[in-house]
Amino acid sequence: MIFIDSHCHIDGEAFDADRDEVVERARSAGVKAMLNIGTGNPHGDDFKKAVAVADKYEEVFASVGVHPHDAKLYDDKAENHLIELVKSSEKVIAWGEIGLDFYYDHSPRDVQIEVFRRQIRTARELNLPIIIHSRDANDETVEILRQECSDRDFRGGIMHCFGGTPEMARDVLEIGFLISFAGNVTFKKADNLRESAQVVPLEKLLIETDCPFLTPVPFRGKRNEPSFVVHTAKFLAEFYGIELEKLANHTKDNFVNFFELKID
Ligand SMILES: [Zn+2]
Ligand SMILES: [Zn+2]
Repeated sequence: MIFIDSHCHIDGEAFDADRDEVVERARSAGVKAMLNIGTGNPHGDDFKKAVAVADKYEEVFASVGVHPHDAKLYDDKAENHLIELVKSSEKVIAWGEIGLDFYYDHSPRDVQIEVFRRQIRTARELNLPIIIHSRDANDETVEILRQECSDRDFRGGIMHCFGGTPEMARDVLEIGFLISFAGNVTFKKADNLRESAQVVPLEKLLIETDCPFLTPVPFRGKRNEPSFVVHTAKFLAEFYGIELEKLANHTKDNFVNFFELKID
């Protein structure tokens, strides 16, 4: 059985001591592709490291883009740096995570909105899919995506670590997004997430760890890692009332077809 971790952060410090082992454990668990999302300061080496990790391991791909937390750091120089990185490696297959985070508000909201729109346009010029992070900003996110992505040429994107309402899920599916659930869908109190999972067709579903955070049950409290995506898969298979293999196949095919990859 093949699993895909559609959103992880294994380039981070949390994995500096044992990254080889973490990737090896993922391989042994059947995780044949991991999309490592670069984050951090676009004026330092954070994104370079994200791409280097993808270049090092066959199963690891990379995405670059400035997180809404760091939107205040985005400028021409940051953008040029990221574009250079996209061009530097075939393993960079997406732009993100970009979006809005009105829960933490680490960057002013008007700056988040402006930088979100700007990065969507840049990604589209590069013909890259976008990875969206949205927290406590459902309406604003959907409005921007409708305005920026509703045309027929839109390459598509992924709503990562989905935390919105079923209505938001329907809206973004309609615009052309895949929806990815993280380990928090397994949490006891996450009925609202499962309500949204209910409206996502298997043909549009992805799974992710968002590691090192959001460790799924039964490892909640430990550092998360890509091999644990299997537990989220098992949980969702049971939730949908289908065989694990069926869920694994759908989430793999959705990812592979979306990014036009060859994985076996
Ligand atoms: Zn995120
Ligand atoms: Zn993330």
